[in-house]
Amino acid sequence: MGTTGAVNTAIFANHRGFGRWPPLPGMFETRPDRDGEVVFVGRSNVGKSTLMREVTGHTFNTGQRPGVTKKPNHFDWNAEDFVVTDLPGFGFMKGVPEDVRERIKTDVVQYIERYAEQILVGVIVVDGKAVIDIIDRHSGPDEVPHDVEMFHFLRELGIPTVVAVNKMDKVDDEDERLNDLCERLGLYPPWQQWQETIAPISAKRGNIDPLNEAVRHHLHEQERDDLFKFF
Ligand code: GDP
Repeated sequence: MGTTGAVNTAIFANHRGFGRWPPLPGMFETRPDRDGEVVFVGRSNVGKSTLMREVTGHTFNTGQRPGVTKKPNHFDWNAEDFVVTDLPGFGFMKGVPEDVRERIKTDVVQYIERYAEQILVGVIVVDGKAVIDIIDRHSGPDEVPHDVEMFHFLRELGIPTVVAVNKMDKVDDEDERLNDLCERLGLYPPWQQWQETIAPISAKRGNIDPLNEAVRHHLHEQERDDLFKFF
């Protein structure tokens, strides 16, 4: 794994290649030296901070304005060679100029490239109520929606990927919604056959068991049952 090789460079083509652009301050310096990592990515306002709180039991300092965090939040344990990382949100953010948005996206992409070997699981958090509309609005001949591109990017790097479909408490037609999402991601419905990949949750209500199950599945596959206590 790494930044070179016969990969589909069309994915995030303008963002890849660690060191091609100077990162925003703090993007790479703050990572604790840990071998195992689980990363969370997602657009702003999908409920990622709420989910991080559920997962780690800690309130992350996201700055005064939600959604404009430019640095990763790392959560680690002294006795463990393991870190949970909340990567900056990307995609549209109210009040954030496009060039800053693009730099954040580049940073996130390059962070994942750089630590692909250490990343045991990549979790993409989406808003179950809005995700299909957002994906469809951004799909076109020259455009791949962020969430879909991120999904393919993680998988291409060989990182086991889980899509945490949050805010399911707001969704009535759960099966239909999740099947639609599978189709957009190139997974054959029904969604029930992808429970290691598609995890419907409600972070706000504390219903995150499907995510924990999915993450555990991937940890187990990598012989990291020792990390089950975190999920
Ligand atoms: P972030 O920008 O992705 O970190 O999102 P936040 O965690 O700040 O959440 C954005 C908004 O979504 C807040 O108003 C949360 O209360 C709300 N939210 C988060 N999780 C859920 C959920 O599971 N269900 C519902 N209905 N709202 C949620």
